[in-house]
Amino acid sequence: MPYEHILVAVDLTEECDPVMHRAQKLAASSGAKLSVVHIVEPMAMAFGGDVPMDLSMLQQQQFDQARERLDKFAGKYPALTADQRHLAYGQPRQEIHRLAGEQNCDLIIVGSHGRHGLALLLGSTANDVLHGAPCDVLAVRLKKPE
Ligand code: AMP
Repeated sequence: MPYEHILVAVDLTEECDPVMHRAQKLAASSGAKLSVVHIVEPMAMAFGGDVPMDLSMLQQQQFDQARERLDKFAGKYPALTADQRHLAYGQPRQEIHRLAGEQNCDLIIVGSHGRHGLALLLGSTANDVLHGAPCDVLAVRLKKPE
């Protein structure tokens, strides 16, 4: 069965392009719709969840900047119309799974650094997304930094 709706998770770094190119080829060969999602992680998460100040304004700025970056990124791929660009707020695994279910996606594509050793202990988003995913997951291998 060919895939019908592919969701590409993008962290908006330069590493997204190889992941998108792979996704585009797959979508073209199976006639699938393509959507992208970027997750804005709450600042409190980065600080370990215990921040003694109101971060709401900073978070709004963070969200607005992410929207601009996502639109700039998606602008390189004319097939991605506004309704195929999703921005969510929260924990990447949880939000990617939620959106994939909501949008009836049958494949999630993420980038993977193929970590090993100590880096593996720190975990990867690709690994995280794989567990409990509501559909198939493809991890596109990213080149290690030189
Ligand atoms: P990482 O394990 O954090 O290096 O990320 C590997 C891959 O996970 C990226 O190539 C993206 O596909 C996905 N990813 C990481 N962070 C995010 C994010 N904030 N929003 C959407 N996808 C993400």
